[in-house]
Amino acid sequence: LTILGLESSCDDTAAALLRMEPDGPAQILSSVVLGQTALHAGFGGVVPEIAARAHAEKLDTCVREALMRAGMTLADVEAVAVTAGPGLIGGVIAGVMCAKGIAAGTGLPLVGVNHLAGHALTPRLTDQVAYPYLMLLVSGGHCQFLIVRGADDFTRLGGTIDDAPGEAFDKVARLLGLPQPGGPMVEREALSGDEARFRFPRPLLDRPGCDMSFSGLKTALLRARDTIVAENSGLTRQDRADLCAGFQASVRDVLAEKTRRALAAYLDDTPAQPVLAVAGGVAANATIRLGLETVASEIGARFVAPPLALCTDNAAMIAYAGGELLALGRRDDMTLVARPRWPLDQTSPAMLGSGR
Ligand code: ATP
Ligand code: FE
Repeated sequence: LTILGLESSCDDTAAALLRMEPDGPAQILSSVVLGQTALHAGFGGVVPEIAARAHAEKLDTCVREALMRAGMTLADVEAVAVTAGPGLIGGVIAGVMCAKGIAAGTGLPLVGVNHLAGHALTPRLTDQVAYPYLMLLVSGGHCQFLIVRGADDFTRLGGTIDDAPGEAFDKVARLLGLPQPGGPMVEREALSGDEARFRFPRPLLDRPGCDMSFSGLKTALLRARDTIVAENSGLTRQDRADLCAGFQASVRDVLAEKTRRALAAYLDDTPAQPVLAVAGGVAANATIRLGLETVASEIGARFVAPPLALCTDNAAMIAYAGGELLALGRRDDMTLVARPRWPLDQTSPAMLGSGR
């Protein structure tokens, strides 16, 4: 089956072509991602209205580019998969309308995909992981543990109750005068830092379960920074490195301990070959990754981290998730709606009607 995937839920316009065989590995024929970073640069974040317009303008170019790179035309495509939520609603609508247009014009089957399901199923696309596996989604906008039992069968074990870790990394970078995106910058500074100099809190470790909190960490860092600045009338390079290392160690420890608990809950499912998979930009952090790998090896679980280009927003993951849903007999029609919110443990948007 050759599937066209579309993604436009945040600030990347993406189209991809994927070939899926019944029992073989899926093959990415092309994957085009057009970022919008420059458009939002002066605003301190993604502006929904600007994002929506850019998606509406770029989706057709993106599809054409994906077809060209795969050496195909629409006549070679056999199904269309599109992100139908959750995300910035203007962008999601643009994608859904584009997909409906293609499906109506060609008569191809259409399937709406949950963006988070796309991320959560990526380990199956890249590493052919079997169900059920434990997934830690850790990005700029999300942080949650999921037991992935099937393409439409997820159990959420817990997640952040405030900021996502990537967001915290970005805010910490801002507090220390480092450029955005903050994660890689903070990681680089931390390399020459001493993580023991500042002992930042490990929030919610005293509470049972897998919920996490990261907003207090950045407040603690702000206080430490201001104390140094008041005492020494400025930050040295070493101060900054130590602050970064202390912060990163705290995020690592929280994620590692909560992962330990999530693994324990997941093992109750008695998977034959336990797998811990991670996705999201923060999974690129070597210190955090080592913390997670260590926890996985403690219980003999395989650790899977897809390449970064497939961990961040892309349309290949949407095509892949769409392919699995089609194999389960799922189809959408012109009643498919775009949803700003769509928790992973709920079913398809058409079945739920519109709204939140
Ligand atoms: P989402 O996909 O959840 O809507 P997003 O698009 O912001 O959010 P990603 O593209 O997956 O998320 O990841 C970007 C985030 O990852 C940023 O917050 C960035 O700072 C963080 N990040 C990237 N590299 C690193 C790193 N080496 N260490 C820590 N954080 C990192
Ligand atoms: Fe995403």
